[in-house]
Amino acid sequence: MHEAILYKKLGNNKVACTACRQGCIISQDDTGICGVRQNKNGRLYLLVYGKASSFNIDPIEKKPLYHFMPATEIFSLGTVGCNFSCSFCQNWDISQITKELRSKLLKEKKIANIDLEISKFGYELPPEKIVEICAEKNIPGVAYTYNEPSIFFEYACDTAKLSSKKGIKNVFVTNGYETEESLKLIKPYLDAMNIDLKSFNDEFYRKICKAKLQPVLETIKLAYRLGIWIEITTLIIPGKNDSDAELKKIAGFISGIDKNIPWHITAFHPDYKMTDIPSTSDATLHKAYDIGKKAGLKYVYVGNILDDEHSGTHCPECNTLLIKRSGYFVEIKNLKDGKCKKCGSKIPGVWK
Ligand code: SF4
Repeated sequence: MHEAILYKKLGNNKVACTACRQGCIISQDDTGICGVRQNKNGRLYLLVYGKASSFNIDPIEKKPLYHFMPATEIFSLGTVGCNFSCSFCQNWDISQITKELRSKLLKEKKIANIDLEISKFGYELPPEKIVEICAEKNIPGVAYTYNEPSIFFEYACDTAKLSSKKGIKNVFVTNGYETEESLKLIKPYLDAMNIDLKSFNDEFYRKICKAKLQPVLETIKLAYRLGIWIEITTLIIPGKNDSDAELKKIAGFISGIDKNIPWHITAFHPDYKMTDIPSTSDATLHKAYDIGKKAGLKYVYVGNILDDEHSGTHCPECNTLLIKRSGYFVEIKNLKDGKCKKCGSKIPGVWK
């Protein structure tokens, strides 16, 4: 078991986890909401350190990141567990399993055994091995994705420290619940984040995700202030977060921080506990795209469907197509050294 660094000791053998904004106070033998950080005798342990539930080599565009090392591959990994409980989760089989296990063990009064149960999931993949694979295969980045990286902070941070020494970049694909402490700690090794802004309605966050809106907004602003490259993703769910008013609020919030922040509008497909809602229509995605543009956002992208017209990067000054995308096929056409080849405008992002 690996002792966590993000926690505080309290009285009565309790601990306060400081890895994410759920702020769990954890009693002896129990875990926090995520089910992967356990209190043993007044110390907090990360049960999934070096244990990947899944890993793959993905195109960076799949994260999605469109202004960060385009057309490169990224080593992607996740563990089990999550601090949210989104009923539309596409990776619910790995993200929600620890909560189910925790409830069962609490009921059976066997919660002390959760470390043994969790250790059965996943593959041994220590930070050194990840860096070795990237070096061997010449992969320029690591993405902490598939489930929420803030809950496996110590694993991600050690990997990021080690890989950044070799010039490998590090990326969080996250729901935006990192604490200020965790984000500041990993900042020197973290190059980019794709942060979900799932809704602009606190009730949506509370009912559907078992979280809150405000902490996510704070993380987005903090990541921007810290100078980490950020892109925002909103999965558009019919009838849940697709009203004009809500989309305008999301676009207005992003645009109020910086009009250069890319906004990814992605299509929902029925999954997990939300199988009664249809997939997002193209018309709704295009409506959201127009709202983003009207709010002044320079880079709005439609995703999770094939839509070349709304997924390419255009120069905001002269409208030249800079990067053409067709699914995960990417062609860098008129971008050189981060500038439009035609008019010379600087395009924000991390290009190498
Ligand atoms: S990471 Fe978040 S959900 Fe998990 S124990 Fe810590 S505060 Fe709770």
